[in-house]
Amino acid sequence: MSDHYVKVKVQLEQMKSSGEGVEKEEADIIEDEVLVASSPASVSPIQASGTPAAQRETPKTSVTCRNQSKSRSKLGKDEKNTCTKQDSVPALQGTIVASNANSGKPVNRKDNEQQMLQIKGTGKMLQGKTETNGNTVPIHLPEDIKVGPHNKEDANKVAKRRKPVTVDTFKAKTSLEALKLSIRQLKWKEFPVGRRSACDIYWHGVSFHDNDNIISGQVNKFPGMIEMLRKINLTRAVRTMQELFPEEYNFYPRSWILPEEYQLFSTQISLAKDSDLSQKPTFIIKPDGGSQGDGIYLIRDPGDLRVIAGSHTKQSVVQEYIHKPLLIDKLKFDIRLYVLVKSLEPLEIYIAKEGLSRFCTEPYQEPSQKNLSHVFMHLTNYSLNVQSGNFVHSDSLSSGSKRTFSSVLYRLASKGVDIKKVWSDIISLVIKTIIALVPELKVYYQADIPPGKPGPTCFQILGFDILLMKNLKPVLLEVNANPSMRIEHEQEVSPGVFEYVPSPVDEEVKVGVIRDTLRLMDPAQKKSLTSYPEHQQEEMLGSPVRGTGEEGRVLPSMCLKQVFPKYTKQFSYLRTVERITALFLRFLGVKGNMRLGPTGFRTFIRNCKLSNSHFSMATVDILYIDITRRWASMLPDSREAGMGLQAFVEAFFYLAQRRFKSLPLREQVVSLLEVCEAQLENQGRGDPGGALPEDSTASTRRSVSCGRTQTGRTQHPHHMSTSAPGQALSAPQLCSPATPRRASSQDYRLHQRLRPTHKGNVEN
Ligand code: ADP
Repeated sequence: MSDHYVKVKVQLEQMKSSGEGVEKEEADIIEDEVLVASSPASVSPIQASGTPAAQRETPKTSVTCRNQSKSRSKLGKDEKNTCTKQDSVPALQGTIVASNANSGKPVNRKDNEQQMLQIKGTGKMLQGKTETNGNTVPIHLPEDIKVGPHNKEDANKVAKRRKPVTVDTFKAKTSLEALKLSIRQLKWKEFPVGRRSACDIYWHGVSFHDNDNIISGQVNKFPGMIEMLRKINLTRAVRTMQELFPEEYNFYPRSWILPEEYQLFSTQISLAKDSDLSQKPTFIIKPDGGSQGDGIYLIRDPGDLRVIAGSHTKQSVVQEYIHKPLLIDKLKFDIRLYVLVKSLEPLEIYIAKEGLSRFCTEPYQEPSQKNLSHVFMHLTNYSLNVQSGNFVHSDSLSSGSKRTFSSVLYRLASKGVDIKKVWSDIISLVIKTIIALVPELKVYYQADIPPGKPGPTCFQILGFDILLMKNLKPVLLEVNANPSMRIEHEQEVSPGVFEYVPSPVDEEVKVGVIRDTLRLMDPAQKKSLTSYPEHQQEEMLGSPVRGTGEEGRVLPSMCLKQVFPKYTKQFSYLRTVERITALFLRFLGVKGNMRLGPTGFRTFIRNCKLSNSHFSMATVDILYIDITRRWASMLPDSREAGMGLQAFVEAFFYLAQRRFKSLPLREQVVSLLEVCEAQLENQGRGDPGGALPEDSTASTRRSVSCGRTQTGRTQHPHHMSTSAPGQALSAPQLCSPATPRRASSQDYRLHQRLRPTHKGNVEN
């Protein structure tokens, strides 16, 4: 019986005795796959991870926000997914006077973001309800953690020799409290107002660009992550993958981008309703770049859209509403999971074993015209539900409106749910989502940190929002580039006076995530770990704190679990778009650029020997112009001219379809990749290579026109597969907009362009 199993058993026993309604124990839990945290909800908080608040050295004090009205816009606006969201952080009045974690001296911090807080001193912060919260805050290091496989003395010797790792926390914003606690636990050195010389780690609150002058060390944000995780871009990235791997990517609800796909959305809904009158789907409209439920609403008829196609309409995503979520105590809830992208190249992903479950505050009913506007029933956002009179702040980790995910899992396990399967589906969803994002992230990365130039490396904690359907299938709602790392919540202590008071649930989960992220990013750890086999590395990270100067102290075992490259074998076949990205980057030319010019595109075609007498360079130019223009109109705020990665991928798909007509899209694309890679490899070896044989099908100049491509498409079942019964999430079965998107681009428009009047646009 594994340690883990014993823990689960103990927890279940504890839950039983505490009246949690646990009836049955899940017997076949496998540690490797069930990532339940080692300090679960039902364990007493002190036992789980920490020192009671009173014993902490941290300058844990109250924050008084005077005259702050309890308006929705001011509550809990700490989760920022976009730069604009940064502005919605509550402007707290006062001055920060916090103790320096290392020296114990007060530090006056001039925060240039105008985030001015008044911290009133130690111990006295908690009043009324808050006192109880404060006393249960778990932060100490358990003494009974088993020591890892390494010699403790050796570890301590190394520890003595090493200088502490330095962390610049000047830009940490709302993560600051959790970050300070983590740094303290690790005995690292914090630089709260920055440092003249370089630090090992820079902790930014919003974006990679919070501080643009970093040329070494590691920054906790990737360039481009905020942009990529905006709702529209995430939808596009997943959709590209859905075209290639419809079944693998059916965890994302069918979505349409507004306003550009309004007509398509409208038509598809009408057709679906006409074909099956019993269908009454509901849709959720989410503004692009929105967060915390702002601007979200539900509709049952496309005519009820508040955004109608037009040039000045707000960009949004309209998404199939999952109308049968899993309920606990009749309430809808979602899961916030923290995921660390440790590196893009090679791709390394870790998932936190513990997460949060956020509950609605009004019992759930399936959507009807009457209840569509009941936000406390349909939206799980903390920032919304905290305003409901029914919101339950709880000191326990396994009750209330915000709980640990493990407490939910134990509850499900007690009812006989196969939580091992739930976890492995979630891991799979996370890995696949990141694989969808990596191509574009690589383009951003090389633009900001060109290879060969001095610059930092990056890592990032992401917040995955996941909904479990009634049938336990996880659905991706969104990914937050800046998940809230606050470990306090706001409380109104008297009319108009708010205080930040410790939130045990948040602290339990978030401090572990930050601390273990730091442990993984420890520069010395990274170097020494690479000499060990992968399976030993995790164990080592659970061993005594090395390199901290802290003798004999141990840290809890890692709450972050590596899932990639661990599961490379199962997922590497999905990394096709990354291979296309490698071609894109190769021909991009100027460092810092993110768009391919016409010459770069021609060079790509020439070097890969993709043109021939039936596919002339003139046609290539038309292809370039057509696709680039269309993408420029879809991305009106893009400042750079040229062909972006998404447009290049579209062109690549087109070329693949054209060349390998009778295969499914996925195989067409892989075949073309092999052609290109082989050609480039030959050239790398100095072999000029010959032109590849032309496609055996006789083509004419008009071969790129609508008719042919459509014919090709109808032969390939994958094109319909995103809407095939049983593959997508559930009824209603609607066609993914992806197929028509591509059909409308190259086919019709290229056909138009190939007319003689357009000759002036081409060169051969
Ligand atoms: P935001 O960034 O504004 O929080 P989300 O995409 O997370 O936007 O949506 C807000 C909430 O709406 C989610 O927490 C979830 O409760 C609900 N929600 C979002 N998308 C769906 C969906 N497709 N089906 C059902 N509920 C959804």
